[in-house]
Amino acid sequence: MHAAEAHVLGVRVDCIDMESALKRIEALANAGGHHLVATVNPEFVMRARSDREFARVLGSADLCLPDGSGVVWAARRQGCSMSGPVTGVDLIPPLAAMCARRGWRMFLLGAQPGVAADLAQQLRTGNPGLAVEAYAGSADPAADDETVAAVTRHKPHVLLVAFGAPRQEMWIDRAGRRVNVPVSIGVGGSFDYLTGRVTRAPRWMRSAGLEWLFRLVRQPWRLRRMAVLPVFAWRVLRES
Ligand code: UDP
Repeated sequence: MHAAEAHVLGVRVDCIDMESALKRIEALANAGGHHLVATVNPEFVMRARSDREFARVLGSADLCLPDGSGVVWAARRQGCSMSGPVTGVDLIPPLAAMCARRGWRMFLLGAQPGVAADLAQQLRTGNPGLAVEAYAGSADPAADDETVAAVTRHKPHVLLVAFGAPRQEMWIDRAGRRVNVPVSIGVGGSFDYLTGRVTRAPRWMRSAGLEWLFRLVRQPWRLRRMAVLPVFAWRVLRES
């Protein structure tokens, strides 16, 4: 019997692969209301240990996707049998296709000015008929009224928020009910990858669980953030 979910150092992770993640998101969008989908990576888990608000918001998520090999490794130790990570960057193209098929509107919020707009154009080209709008906005609470107004104007069914963690999850927690979108997903740097502004690690490195190394070499400023990775691994080993 395979586990349906794992608790990685206290953070829930759903044991799910891409196909079932898309089905779950489809069901959440169908249900209406307001749902948070989180893409959980080791940095999230470590942050949640010291940031109670972030831990609370992650605890309220309706779906916690295993984003990254570190979280998949930890979840497999608890009986999860997912085939690999479900990342925001891999999720967005099939999600856009699903929205086009279902006639659902998408909204891309966040990243540097122009990035979300470029991705929206790319998704429209790849999915004729898809209604998708974009707005760079800001994670600053002082900009919430303006950002909420920009999102609600489009009445999206699916909202992707790329402010980086934990800002994007905190934004969804704060403003999600005001925008009245059935599914809101924090997607980190996905817009930068999908528009080619940041190069993704080659497939062999991703399969070997070495994406973190590629990111570190390309973006050395990540070193401070990534310093939590060995601590994460050590705590996961110690937990069992
Ligand atoms: N970002 C943003 N507003 C901010 C800070 C970051 O829109 O105040 C964007 C940034 O441009 C990038 C995304 O958030 O596209 C993800 O940032 P990060 O690299 O921190 O996320 P990760 O991929 O590590 O989750």
